[in-house]
Amino acid sequence: MTSAGRFAPSPSGELHVGNLRTAILAWLFARSTGRRFLMRVEDLDRARAGAEAEQFRDLAAIGVTWDDGVVRQAEREPLYDEALERLTAAGLTYECFCTRREIQEAPSAPHAPQGAYPGTCRNLDPAELAFKRTSRPAAVRLRAAVHEWTVRDVLHGAYTGMVDDFVLRRNDGVAAYNLAVVVDDAAQGIDQVVRGDDLLPSTPRQAYLASLFNMPVPEYAHVPLVLNAQGARLAKRDGAVTLADLAVQGATAEDVRDLILASLRLPAGPLQRALSAFDPAALPRTPWVWRGPDASGA
Ligand code: GLU
Repeated sequence: MTSAGRFAPSPSGELHVGNLRTAILAWLFARSTGRRFLMRVEDLDRARAGAEAEQFRDLAAIGVTWDDGVVRQAEREPLYDEALERLTAAGLTYECFCTRREIQEAPSAPHAPQGAYPGTCRNLDPAELAFKRTSRPAAVRLRAAVHEWTVRDVLHGAYTGMVDDFVLRRNDGVAAYNLAVVVDDAAQGIDQVVRGDDLLPSTPRQAYLASLFNMPVPEYAHVPLVLNAQGARLAKRDGAVTLADLAVQGATAEDVRDLILASLRLPAGPLQRALSAFDPAALPRTPWVWRGPDASGA
């Protein structure tokens, strides 16, 4: 399988300038290294009817192109189930009945990092397990053998972060994001993951999981987010931040693309032109503050 990068939006609504910028970056990273570029719809959660088509339309409008073979996670549950079964057969999972509240209130396990699952259900005896099974449906957690894991990131260098007994299948039976992302990246031949740096803390968990499956760990590049004028992560409530909103203000898709390219210190115009100037080492390492289409912010 030839190597590939990807963009993996959750179809919860229209993409905003921050999502579009991450998509352009993922495209530039992939295309500048001769990779294929794949689209994956992460619709296990938060899917809104029609959002996928809107997102694809907006990506195309700013010049992001992708290769055939769009994948939708909601159609791939058997793949996640099969992967989970492999871990279970290897003794690497357990059922967990904890509510969010119970997890928050449980004393943390000795030596466990802050925020780690406290291990309440890790070693239930058969009688406890049988009793708990009558109480509520179980989530399935990973029986992790490490507390942390180190990944390499093109922009962040070596990054070490927490690995705990994270959830692989939620108690509603749906595969958890961390499982689906690892299974899909491997199944799609994705060997380069470019995404917002809010996901960097989840990456050690994913790389550790990939190692348990003997799957190759992709190259990672976690890119800075776009912030609003108050310094918080850009969101829809920050006003005109989608192509549709910005069009009403008179900014075309090309204008928005050029603003994004300027924020990356890349030349305006078709993405193909930016491609020849693209150099990951020269990318700004700090977030871009979005102040609207007229205040270029670049
Ligand atoms: N679906 C995630 C999001 O929209 C991205 C996950 C990923 O790129 O691994 O934030």
